[in-house]
Amino acid sequence: MTCIACGETLDREDAREYDKHGDRWTREGKTFEYLCKPCDREYCHQNREGLEETLLAADAGRTDRKTFLRRFCELTTDNENFD
Ligand SMILES: [Zn+2]
Repeated sequence: MTCIACGETLDREDAREYDKHGDRWTREGKTFEYLCKPCDREYCHQNREGLEETLLAADAGRTDRKTFLRRFCELTTDNENFD
């Protein structure tokens, strides 16, 4: 496994799955990318800043789950640098 953020080579058990679609519960027909633990922590930390605002902006609790997840994904991917 290779960390997509820093390029570190990882053992499978040390890698954290990263799904650029933001939906790691739908596993069928997917391949996952991987982050090392330090990058995974950093990624989660970044996304928690302003999480509440992002949830509100995505209409959490006021729209159906699918729409919410799509909006939330769009909003949060603005902050990532993996592409
Ligand atoms: Zn890394």
